[in-house]
Amino acid sequence: MEDMFNFADELGPSKIIHIYEPSVGLKGILVVDNIAMGPSIGGLRIAPDVSVSECFRLARSMTLKNAAAGLPHGGGKMVIYGDPKMPLQQKQQIVRAAAASLRNQEAYIFGPDMGTNEQCMAWIRDENGRSVGLPRELGGIPLDEIGATAWGLIQAVNVALSYLDFELDGSRVVIQGFGSVGKHSARFLHEQGATIVAVNDSRGTIYNADGLDIDALFELKQAGKSVIDYSGGKSLEQDAIIDIECDIWIPAARPDIINEHNVDRLSAKLIVQGANIAITEGAEKQLYEKGVLCVPDFIANAGGVICAAMEYQGSTQKTAMATIAEKIAINTKTVLDISKAENIQPREAAIQMASERVKKAMSLRRWSLFSSAPHFI
Ligand code: NAD
Repeated sequence: MEDMFNFADELGPSKIIHIYEPSVGLKGILVVDNIAMGPSIGGLRIAPDVSVSECFRLARSMTLKNAAAGLPHGGGKMVIYGDPKMPLQQKQQIVRAAAASLRNQEAYIFGPDMGTNEQCMAWIRDENGRSVGLPRELGGIPLDEIGATAWGLIQAVNVALSYLDFELDGSRVVIQGFGSVGKHSARFLHEQGATIVAVNDSRGTIYNADGLDIDALFELKQAGKSVIDYSGGKSLEQDAIIDIECDIWIPAARPDIINEHNVDRLSAKLIVQGANIAITEGAEKQLYEKGVLCVPDFIANAGGVICAAMEYQGSTQKTAMATIAEKIAINTKTVLDISKAENIQPREAAIQMASERVKKAMSLRRWSLFSSAPHFI
């Protein structure tokens, strides 16, 4: 009892639900953090090492991300204990059982995350009618295929550049990770005149000071190869991505990649965070003190969830992309203006902005988190 309430603070969590169904081996946790803005949207993660605390932290970051993006949604997250590569039949049983057991939890809309994809979202919709990130045949907008998050990220890059003394055209960019966020960021930035000098993936780094051929890299990844199989550059260790001289550095891979021990190796003047929590708190503080501009993850990478929320409302891909561009540009500017005016880190400014929005929404309710309106939450 006491343990569960260790997470409780002024924003939530509203509910922590334990889900257990031994007949199919389902063990899961749902955290609905804050729903003052509307039903929560957050990913369903399947991994062997998840925990209540991880689920809570991810749910909270969705509360802030959705509020910062101005979406009518709160933050939630669900985790299921298990190997995401389990046989498909077993995975279907577990995911369907989880969705069925939560059919009355209208406060949570399932989205894809590590270990789940559009097929899982289709099973969930079939069980309870509440999921985003659906296959195109069911009205989904394939956000990874179209690069929705990267599209938002480059809006953040463009706005951030207006606070710096160089332009995108002719700038040198390094991107860590060449998955859906990394590769589409490379494509969009290249189209706007930037030179992508290095990228990496789980096998290593590829570098060419004169620029990499992004189409050729796309083809390699499409064929299931690594960026280091590209012949027009120098192949380096995975970690070398941190040392390459550049103007803009984009993390688009794993958490905690930049920390207090390696942050001094970065030479960029601008860092726009595609990956979630790619830079530790201490390292981000050091970058701020050195005058490096860092656009926080939950501002820069909100394109995916904006796209998902638009899909839920039945929007088209074109409208979703326009909304992503508009929202991320405005939010990046607001955060950087607050940071400048108050002399605080952009992350502090972003948390302040998002928390104020959540608190305002809470103040408009009879109870701060619950609404008693039918079919609302
Ligand atoms: P992805 O799985 O498509 O791609 C990840 C890429 O990172 C792959 O190229 C992989 O080879 C590479 N990689 C893995 N470990 C690495 C390492 N240690 N060093 C360098 N490269 C490594 O994932 P994604 O969807 O592009 O997501 C990337 C990050 O962005 C994740 O942190 C994710 O949570 C975050 N994010 C994604 C979205 C989205 O819409 N996909 C939205 C918001 C945030």
